[in-house]
Amino acid sequence: MSSFKAGEPPSARDSAAERASEARAIPVAPAGDPATFPALAEEIHRLARERDAVILAHSYERPEIQDVADHVGDSLMLSRVAATAPQSTIVFCGVSFMAETAKILSPEKTVLLPDLAAGCSLADSITVEQLRQWKAQHPGAVVVSYVNTTAAVKAESDYCCTSGNARAVIEAVPRDRQILFLPDMFLGMWLERVTGRKLTIWLGECHVHAGIRAEDVERWHREEPGAELLVHPECGCTSQVIEAAGDQAHILSTEGMVAFAERSKADSFLVATEVGILHRLALKAPGKRFVPVNREAVCQYMKLITLEKLRDALRHNVYQIDVPTDVAARARLALERMIAIA
Ligand code: SF4
Repeated sequence: MSSFKAGEPPSARDSAAERASEARAIPVAPAGDPATFPALAEEIHRLARERDAVILAHSYERPEIQDVADHVGDSLMLSRVAATAPQSTIVFCGVSFMAETAKILSPEKTVLLPDLAAGCSLADSITVEQLRQWKAQHPGAVVVSYVNTTAAVKAESDYCCTSGNARAVIEAVPRDRQILFLPDMFLGMWLERVTGRKLTIWLGECHVHAGIRAEDVERWHREEPGAELLVHPECGCTSQVIEAAGDQAHILSTEGMVAFAERSKADSFLVATEVGILHRLALKAPGKRFVPVNREAVCQYMKLITLEKLRDALRHNVYQIDVPTDVAARARLALERMIAIA
């Protein structure tokens, strides 16, 4: 049943023209004076060459960071790049669990995170002690962890997955086995729907995606009825959106959104995920219009990385990420299974 309130008038501030105009800009202020960015970018590229470093950036990073990176993508894509990159140093413009993942997959390489405060509320929603207790309550269950987890949690998991391959990972587990899925409850509920499997789900969430509510989507959908709706499965609105928007709603990973927008014949898209993806979408599908359903969907952890911090990371070889050898060995098994399943 649709929960759209079709007769409800938008507020004056929320007129279609005003919101459409707002939507053209990436709703994140640059960190510093944009006039300095070209010189900083040049210095960063020179330092990266000298240090034999590859720069990886998540699609939620600031536009200027995405522009200077060698590779931009989601966790799955960047994990694959980290595992195969020939350079001896990886600079990860993302959050700490991503840098840990790169270190686990490439223990012989130096992995740098330009700001150690770049964490993740979703990864913080379960500790390794909580996972051990949960496993003890469900002996014999298979543990599938979203990649947004600490190295210690990965080490206690059978499989990792990203939003790009979570469905395939669940389908790879024999149907007679109980699955403990963690830590994102919205992704878990979506997986139950698309796989038809009953999962035991940890009740964690990402504060950014949980903040994208059905009301945001409904409001935009009223004013842009022809737009395709791209929804990340971590969003709090996912279940209502599927029901309400029908064929126009596409539940996609961030890389899936980029690929969909590139090949779609549509020229207008509503985007329900962290707003950093708008920069990548605009680059990959020029001439098309992308509207964030919630302009407040900004991950402050991702936005901690600035060009100055990236430059300083390369200059001073900081901050180096290390994972204890025994933890890394067990976590690597779960990650390698994730990478092997397309
Ligand atoms: S957007 Fe959410 S899941 Fe992604 S890094 Fe930020 S807090 Fe974590």
